[in-house]
Amino acid sequence: MADHHSGIPLISIPGPNKFSLNETALERLLLRKEVKDLPVAVISVAGAFNKGKSFLLDFFLRYANHQYGEAVERDIWIGNDGEPLIGFPWSGGSSRSTTGILIWSKLFVCTTSKNGNVCVILIDTQGIFDGESTVQEWATVFAISTMISSVQIYNLSQNIQEDDLQHLELFIEYGRLAQSKTGRKPFQKLLFLVRDWSYPYEHGYGAIGGKELLEKRLKTKDDQHVELQNIRRNIKSCFEQIDCFLMPHPGLKVASDPMFNGSLADIDPIFRAKLKELIRLVMTPANLVVKRVHGEVVTTKDLLTYLKKYVAVFNS
Ligand code: GDP
Repeated sequence: MADHHSGIPLISIPGPNKFSLNETALERLLLRKEVKDLPVAVISVAGAFNKGKSFLLDFFLRYANHQYGEAVERDIWIGNDGEPLIGFPWSGGSSRSTTGILIWSKLFVCTTSKNGNVCVILIDTQGIFDGESTVQEWATVFAISTMISSVQIYNLSQNIQEDDLQHLELFIEYGRLAQSKTGRKPFQKLLFLVRDWSYPYEHGYGAIGGKELLEKRLKTKDDQHVELQNIRRNIKSCFEQIDCFLMPHPGLKVASDPMFNGSLADIDPIFRAKLKELIRLVMTPANLVVKRVHGEVVTTKDLLTYLKKYVAVFNS
């Protein structure tokens, strides 16, 4: 189980707009001989504070703990009804606000038919517009997590709003500055994840409804202000793939009961069903996206090299 593992800071911000890579811990983690030469898949969840990112990631962890490696009980990964949810610390109502990237200290090895054994890394990226950090700081953190991830899950509350697209465009710009001009799209897969979607009669929960909403939101129209058209073009031109998934509300216990410990019995059944669907979409061996840079597969060891390069660029 995951109990002796934790989220380790990948980057710290020791001074205004200074970024420092947690090299010692990362070397210990990424250069282990069982994983260093394997292709890597990095799944990141990013977005504003207190919107259920860590909560979601802990279900990703549950899946990885049960389904990858040598586990035998294949269908019960989601857990028992009363089991508390552990992993990345999640909590409601507290004033915690960290800007940074946490990497889960356990790396998973998943056997895939396309890429053989793949090292799967989960990261939690916090801090968009938390009022504590500067725009440059959070934009940098988001850019770095987007550059190193094979799937960036952009966690949003209730809808895809115009300012969500603007925030995205801002950190994309930072990321682009750090990428060499190769003519290739700088980032891989972006998944808009809309939490507490409340218009299922307009677009149903899940990936199909998500696709419909995304098409609507990213459409450029002649009567739109040119700036809005440019934001949309920019976003589309930066990612190889963009998807969207609509999640239902998880129920009042999850959203507002301070005693809630994450147990499934207190989570709305529709949410649970969609959670399984989402995790299958991102994490089953056939769906795992391996990290590539300029088309080349990146290994766990290469990831460290890229991180060093990116952090140096942002500090210069
Ligand atoms: P993070 O700061 O984005 O990582 O948010 P957390 O994962 O720490 O969760 C913050 C609070 O939101 C906790 O009280 C969770 O129980 C609650 N929560 C988790 N998922 C959802 C969701 O989908 N909708 C709502 N409304 N609350 C959620």
